Amino acid sequence: MAKYIIACIESDVEILDGLYNKISRIVDSDYVIESYINAEQALIGCYNYIISGNEILITILGNDTSSMPCSNFVIELHKNSPNTKNIIFNDVAKVECLEKIINNASVYQLIPRRFDRVDFELIILEAIKQNAQERRLKDYQKVLENAVEKRTKELNDINIKLEVLATTDSLSGVKNRRSFYESSAPMIRYNRRENKKLAVLMIDIDKFKMINDLYGHSVGDDVIKLMAKKIESTLRTSDIFGRLGGEEFAAVLPNTSERGALKAAENIRQEIENLEYTVNEKEKVKFTISIGVALLNSNDLDLDAILHRADLALYESKRNGRNKVSLSECDSTKEK
Ligand code: GH3
Ligand code: MG
Ligand code: MG
Repeated sequence: MAKYIIACIESDVEILDGLYNKISRIVDSDYVIESYINAEQALIGCYNYIISGNEILITILGNDTSSMPCSNFVIELHKNSPNTKNIIFNDVAKVECLEKIINNASVYQLIPRRFDRVDFELIILEAIKQNAQERRLKDYQKVLENAVEKRTKELNDINIKLEVLATTDSLSGVKNRRSFYESSAPMIRYNRRENKKLAVLMIDIDKFKMINDLYGHSVGDDVIKLMAKKIESTLRTSDIFGRLGGEEFAAVLPNTSERGALKAAENIRQEIENLEYTVNEKEKVKFTISIGVALLNSNDLDLDAILHRADLALYESKRNGRNKVSLSECDSTKEK
């Protein structure tokens, strides 16, 4: 266990013994009283105690045999032990010396060399008490800081989770309608302003009601999840993909021409056509999707404008027998 050190520095051995006797009567074995006649040796001794994890509680400074001024000792020690209470004999403490100590370290109390004339024991006990209080306060501060740090981290984690919950569709795991709109709107604005190519896909599962009716709602749910995962893995990471509601999904494809968009849509259509959901060993569900494709043009005020054309194109795919990709009529006539 760490010890508390009380270092007495005085060249008059009689006084040094007196200090030792008085202090040893009021402290227990947790405290070590060290007597030095030389301040340089005292500094080395104190550093050794600090290095091995002990605390310099009090120094009592009188005359000493070294050439080191008393102020240097206190200031040097203060660098590594700022809470030490420095008690100084008042005949040692010249004004300049005191000024230096006060400006660079601290003085706890000045006492006369004839310390039996003051209530010396009380001064020592008070210094010990104050030091213990400061230590407790420091420990408490540390506990408090740790608790605040832990709580801040917890709140950050919760906020991240809340953000994910607020922007993710709980069934499919892709962006929900709100998040899809929030992410797409600035991209649409930027691409229109910069006259860049951008495509939107509207995707809907064919005859999905039949899947629900034949296999049950939970299989229907699994089919939605499977499809969403498949489409997400087919798209580029820069594309925005989300569930608009029910079995209807949409994707925004930046930097994509008519040809590129039709190719991407056809690729998705085929991937889903080849997909199989296993209900059990005997039953496997195959399903298809229809896709409508629209391209951003300079008249599109917002995402809804282009989504509307993609929706009309999706309707064309349904009308033409489903499991199809159609390009919005306005877009295809404009391109030609
Ligand atoms: P179409 O080919 O014309 O798109 O036919 P459809 O049956 O897919 O279209 P319809 O809009 O008539 O039916 C969609 C069905 O999707 C009806 C609804 O109960 C079901 N549905 C919507 N959301 C969910 C869901 O989260 N889970 C499941 N299992 N079914 C859903
Ligand atoms: Mg459908
Ligand atoms: Mg639908």
